[in-house]
Amino acid sequence: MKKDYRICTRCIADTTIPGITFDENGICNYCKIHDKMEKDYPEGKEARKKLEELVRKIKASGKGKRYDCVVGVSGGRDSTYLLYTAVKLGLRPLAVHFDNGWNSEIAVTNVKNILSKLNIDLETLVVDWYEFKDLQRSFLFASVSDAEIPTDVGIFGTLHKIAAQEGIKYILNGHSFRTEGIMPISWTYMDGRYISSVQKKFGTMKLKTFPNFSFWDLFYYVFIKKIKSVPLLNYVEYKHSQVEKILEKEAGWTYYGGHHHESYYTNFFQSYFLPKKFNIDKRKIEYSAKIRSGQMERPLALKEIQAIPYPYEKELVNYTISKLGFSQRQFDQIMKAKVKTFHDYPSYYPIVKVLKPVLKLAVKYNLIPRLLYQKFFT
Ligand SMILES: [Zn+2]
Repeated sequence: MKKDYRICTRCIADTTIPGITFDENGICNYCKIHDKMEKDYPEGKEARKKLEELVRKIKASGKGKRYDCVVGVSGGRDSTYLLYTAVKLGLRPLAVHFDNGWNSEIAVTNVKNILSKLNIDLETLVVDWYEFKDLQRSFLFASVSDAEIPTDVGIFGTLHKIAAQEGIKYILNGHSFRTEGIMPISWTYMDGRYISSVQKKFGTMKLKTFPNFSFWDLFYYVFIKKIKSVPLLNYVEYKHSQVEKILEKEAGWTYYGGHHHESYYTNFFQSYFLPKKFNIDKRKIEYSAKIRSGQMERPLALKEIQAIPYPYEKELVNYTISKLGFSQRQFDQIMKAKVKTFHDYPSYYPIVKVLKPVLKLAVKYNLIPRLLYQKFFT
């Protein structure tokens, strides 16, 4: 362990996260963000009041239409629970699935089961595999820890595109700061320009069908189409252990053994690529969130993180290498290549920094979520 290693006294975030800071009591900046978010999304009576108001607005926006909101589904726990919650609240969601070619069989079955149990319509966007594969390869060549953002941005772009097409004003997102935590910008940064610039540098083809998300898209969807993205799970009680039981019983859902492991690529990415190449263990973020929200004991989290390296399956690694068309030698070179960050490639980040005062105001007036702002400026 390095000499200047430090770990938060409240959660388990530590100095493997570049840019982490600690106060005089040894509490990290991510714990501070959590406390601020607790104020934005309080629990109990106040949460119920806020939720009722939100549901009323969503229903009103969908009057006379077939759907009143869009929900992205992956077969994972968060999105399945989000869909389940939306229906229980009396909303009429359209489910949207971004099929990037890496679905596990469990994921596909999970999606099918929940849709038929709750009688929900689905729209699926199947990526052009050759183009998407080329983009995934480009991000691995770029040697950055953001190599899973083609999927994240693709989902974001698809949800907005379909919401606009269907005249739907609300997109529900399944992020919960109490269970999922706050991802450090030094571990994951994403924007549409970053995607284009990495593809331009390392790709062998132009992105023609990939649903990228540029500043112009943001402007169009938010200010012209007036589409809002709402973190619904932040308003409801969300405890993994309870939720899993409910979903198994009510939605024919099966667990797949790891956070976001419903996708073969995400599983490879989190269990092998990030820990081996970047010394990034995303469990630290999830466990820290659960410690802060009273769902996990700190000693247990510490024990698991320190004693057990992120478990991975060799077979899955081989499958990923071959599906992406790499030779073993090429892949070894990728794993050994010097680590880079998003600062090494053109992105919107310099503009975002200049816009800091404007964004601060936007948070104050609830135009953008605090989480987004905190991610950039802490
Ligand atoms: Zn902390």
